[in-house]
Amino acid sequence: MTSIPSLTSNQEKNLVTDLQQWALANSLIIYPPDFKSYQPVVAPVTLYPTPFSRIAFEQANEVQLAYNELYIKVTNDQDFLLGIIDELSHFDQEFTGKLYQTYLKAKEIGIKQNLKLGIFRSDYLVEGSEIKQVEFNTVSVSFGGLSTKVGQVHKFLNNIGNYDPESKGQLYYKEEDLPVSNSIEALAKGLADANYYYNGEIYKTDTIVLTIVQEGERNVFDQRLLEFELLSKHGIKSKRLSLSQIELETFVDSNTSKIFLKSTGEEISVVYFRAGYAPSDFQNEADWNARLILETSLAIKGPDLVTQLAGAKKIQQILTDEEILSKFIPNNSEHYQKLLKSFVKIYPLDDSELGKKGKSLAFETPEKFVLKPQREGGGNNVYKSDIPGFLKSLSEKEWSAYILMELINPSTFVNKIIRNDQVLKNEIISELGIFGVVLFDDKEVKVNENAGWLLRSKFSSSNEGGVAAGFGAVDSIQLV
Ligand code: ADP
Ligand code: MG
Ligand code: MG
Repeated sequence: MTSIPSLTSNQEKNLVTDLQQWALANSLIIYPPDFKSYQPVVAPVTLYPTPFSRIAFEQANEVQLAYNELYIKVTNDQDFLLGIIDELSHFDQEFTGKLYQTYLKAKEIGIKQNLKLGIFRSDYLVEGSEIKQVEFNTVSVSFGGLSTKVGQVHKFLNNIGNYDPESKGQLYYKEEDLPVSNSIEALAKGLADANYYYNGEIYKTDTIVLTIVQEGERNVFDQRLLEFELLSKHGIKSKRLSLSQIELETFVDSNTSKIFLKSTGEEISVVYFRAGYAPSDFQNEADWNARLILETSLAIKGPDLVTQLAGAKKIQQILTDEEILSKFIPNNSEHYQKLLKSFVKIYPLDDSELGKKGKSLAFETPEKFVLKPQREGGGNNVYKSDIPGFLKSLSEKEWSAYILMELINPSTFVNKIIRNDQVLKNEIISELGIFGVVLFDDKEVKVNENAGWLLRSKFSSSNEGGVAAGFGAVDSIQLV
């Protein structure tokens, strides 16, 4: 099937009602922008699954363990990583610099926990039938919860015959072509594993997971789905606090560095960061101090500051250098070849040879590129013809904090997106994210696993596809 079903307006109305009621009943929901009353709405979703190359889907899933391994090794090679971060800090004092300074302070105080939890998501666009990496995220990766749900709702609508009401029994999509992401299960399992290793490889349910959240977070249900799974499957409770609540709500035992909730006395085994990835997550010095308290506590951090810093876009750019990549992943291995194949060209904008080339390309053929700062969460990039003017507004020294990446040109598909009760038909572009979970220290990898996937789609007319930012929708896959 390469196009969406053609339904009468009545049939589509039924389909939309069924989708919305399933979504409300099963937590495929989000708070609307600027919400004041706590009334959730159906999350922006596509009405139909989007066709996705089976080969590309397999490639992306297969390369995840290699990516996990690569970022474990980068995180553990602190001379390499922190050397780059140190340099970057001069050009991006506002955020990368602050994260790094906080890490240095933590190191001075003493970092008690060697184990690091990485909940990663590697994002791709498909060009031809090849996956090309957009970016690798090491902190606050989202939509693992809603991804499972959108797969389930599309499967439900298919199974009840809503995609092809006239066919009497013949389903529009083949059941086996609609995979459902196991991300809720797999990400909750990652948190449970961290709890297990925190407790010396003993299965305990009296220690809890602390989720660090943004104030005014809209994507709450995506997070809570993981918490509910953690409790129902693993018996582990979680608590949600913002950075500004840490000092008031927790205390650290100065002998053991164990961190506890003041209200209940419960010990925190894992700190799961769904905040702390953007400058605006830190309102003041007290918030940075809260981050420091967590970093120096015995709890396992998902992620710790070094793992978070490994996700810098500058690091992604440097790893596309074959020589550097081969320092981490042997160049005669299958993993190496797979990683290399998934890269597009990324240039620095510094004084190196490659940097000089990047600088001239940015001005000669800006329409082929996207310029990225060291930021996360969408809405930060500069595209195509905007690049030269943007660069000219900075001093040339500051360009070092940006990377220049070749634009990937994925094929488009016409689907419908439901947003605010409106059904919008449009050409879309889809970005696949593969989740990975790792737990490791500098000696051993305890966990390295795939953890499901996410398909996000945006109108092809918009440059960026953030769902929460209002540009996109959560989608599911029809394997073709
Ligand atoms: P962020 O960390 O803010 O999510 P990304 O690198 O993912 O930053 O960029 C945001 C969005 O910009 C992506 O989701 C994608 O839609 C678009 N984008 C980024 N890099 C490319 C690229 N090389 N080619 C095409 N689109 C891109
Ligand atoms: Mg990102
Ligand atoms: Mg992104």
